[in-house]
Amino acid sequence: MLFPDTDVLEFESRIKQSKNITLLTHYNPDGDAIGSSVGMYHYLKCRNKEVNLIIPNEFPHFLDFVIDGVPFILGNKELDRVKNILTSTELIICLDFNTASRVGDALAETLRNTKVEKILVDHHLFPDNCYDVVFSHVPASSTSELVYELLYHLEEYKPFLNKPMAQALYTGICTDTGSFSFGCNHKRTYDIVGDLVEAGADVELVHQEVFNTNSEDRLRLLGFCLCERLTIIKDKRAAFIYLSKEDLKRFNYQIGDTEGVVNYCLTMKDIEFGVLITERIDRVRLSFRSKYDFDVNIFARENWNGGGHRKASGGHSFDSLEKVIETLTNQIQNLKL
Ligand code: 5GP
Ligand code: MN
Repeated sequence: MLFPDTDVLEFESRIKQSKNITLLTHYNPDGDAIGSSVGMYHYLKCRNKEVNLIIPNEFPHFLDFVIDGVPFILGNKELDRVKNILTSTELIICLDFNTASRVGDALAETLRNTKVEKILVDHHLFPDNCYDVVFSHVPASSTSELVYELLYHLEEYKPFLNKPMAQALYTGICTDTGSFSFGCNHKRTYDIVGDLVEAGADVELVHQEVFNTNSEDRLRLLGFCLCERLTIIKDKRAAFIYLSKEDLKRFNYQIGDTEGVVNYCLTMKDIEFGVLITERIDRVRLSFRSKYDFDVNIFARENWNGGGHRKASGGHSFDSLEKVIETLTNQIQNLKL
């Protein structure tokens, strides 16, 4: 049993008691954040609930197909409305994040302080202790997989799945495992995928939507990253790519355009640690990826105000881009890989 019976019963009773339920995911949402939230949304709608789906800020266009037809509220567009919902709804389900800070500066305090009961469904290390019920399983491929597991237990081992639900959960699993290339060495993941396909998830369509909808600018930005912005530190088996604000402007950057770029570092045979450094409006963001044993979650926590998973994590700095590159280079030089 993945989750204790008592927690599943608790979840069931809280859902039963609540007419108005709010779903909340993390800032800069990815395929798993959107997939798990939309999957849960459809389930709750099937149980005749009023559902508020709150997404802290915009998500990449290649995820539009997942959320098609589902009403959602953007935290950065309707902040007061969202804060009001978070304090007046009957139940909050938090999906795909561990600490309240991951919902972004504008909402974190409201989430921490609301008196409304909170349930967490997530697969990141070290969840906060501000939730009333926690469904956390770090080895899971994705939060979408955990939403399936939860429904599996709730619905007595044959979860109710309709096509949009199945497709959303499949998209979350597919994107969070880098198309089944990490975090998915478990038979269970494929059993679940089998059920999702049986319930109508269109694997080919998901692939086309997620991976074959690049703009020309996005593809040229990738070429620029690899040609002009890739630094390799061979003796440390590390590589990083940086992008300045001007670089992003030059390629007409849209949200999601740099998604996956960091993984190219790891496609080199002798590279095990890859970093993407991106200069944003108010900070410099870093994405870390590891191929083998090097733990980028610890690296991000200890050095870059961040965290995530062993093989994929993120962080940020308020230093200049130049300073971040210098600091990171020194950290890499000092690594004992
Ligand atoms: P990405 O590099 O794709 O932005 O993030 C990789 C993984 O690290 C994701 O699972 C994401 O949730 C997590 N992550 C990214 N940034 C942060 C951060 O600032 N703090 C924490 N705790 N996790 C992060
Ligand atoms: Mn995830």
